[in-house]
Amino acid sequence: MTNLNETKLAEVVEAAKAKVAGNKRWTNAVTNAATLLASGNPYIHFTGHSLLMLSESGEIYEANGTCQCTAFSKGQPCKHRAAYKLMVRYNETAH
Ligand SMILES: [Zn+2]
Repeated sequence: MTNLNETKLAEVVEAAKAKVAGNKRWTNAVTNAATLLASGNPYIHFTGHSLLMLSESGEIYEANGTCQCTAFSKGQPCKHRAAYKLMVRYNETAH
């Protein structure tokens, strides 16, 4: 994904971290999601209602409230869903 405003993304990430404060797994997921989004990875696409991304394992995950990764199947937070939430907030936030 390209053309994300770094300052705006950082604000959204900080707000998200504040919301999950005290939850280590979600804090890690948000941190990893922020890295993922800031990386300018071309294989990430926000459709408006879900976030499509090519995973390290070569599979395409479509994250919204759910995900197809191993962490999600174990009921754990994952960076994919965290990244999705960050993108929703990012798009809701005025420039
Ligand atoms: Zn996932």
